[in-house]
Amino acid sequence: MTQKVIGLIGGMSWESSAEYYRIINERIRTRLGGLHSARCLMWSFDFAEIEALQHTGDWAAATGLMIEAARRLERGGADFVAICTNTMHRMADEVQAAINLPLLHIADPTAERIKASGHRRVGLLGTAFTMEQEFYKGRLQQRYGLDVLVPGPQDRQAIHRIIYDELVQGRIEPASRDVLRDVMQELASRGAEAIILGCTEIMLLVTHEDAPVPLFDTTTLHAEAIAEMSIA
Ligand code: GLU
Repeated sequence: MTQKVIGLIGGMSWESSAEYYRIINERIRTRLGGLHSARCLMWSFDFAEIEALQHTGDWAAATGLMIEAARRLERGGADFVAICTNTMHRMADEVQAAINLPLLHIADPTAERIKASGHRRVGLLGTAFTMEQEFYKGRLQQRYGLDVLVPGPQDRQAIHRIIYDELVQGRIEPASRDVLRDVMQELASRGAEAIILGCTEIMLLVTHEDAPVPLFDTTTLHAEAIAEMSIA
């Protein structure tokens, strides 16, 4: 079998891109056995450049960089493309429109798994951009009929800070794990039947044992779907 060439847009942050690389290769080994591993390309950003555009709200420039990255992968021979972060799916439609390859959206394998598990009301953890703007929640609601709950303003701010000040910098702090535990407890008490780890670094901090309801980790689900698509 010839595997399709995976094109990854990564480096946002590399802490989670490394997880993608590991999980994709593990899944290929499980599925194909022996010495098989993934055929893939990654464009890895300097995250400082991306973060500055996010926090000054220059989404037009960020979109330009994302399109450029996708085109690099297309020129490099990728058969399909995936964006290894939830937040930067804000411009997924523009990226898709700029290339002649399919883009495997991170919300899709996540939502499909949630639906298959029979949950309808889900809590969403991620950056403030992901929790507050429509691009992500809207897709979950409109395409999959999920009812999406997000934490309150102070908790959203705390999670955003944990992501940018700690997780993308490789810092794993037990005190922050406690914060996320409390937030997940609160979401469950408001009726969340499951929780989406909608930031690709959160899985570095919390596991199923920290949550009162099932967790759906976008990094793992997306990376596994990418591997499956490459051998489909
Ligand atoms: N990786 C994170 C996410 O999944 C946050 C970093 C970024 O802004 O891309 O949203």
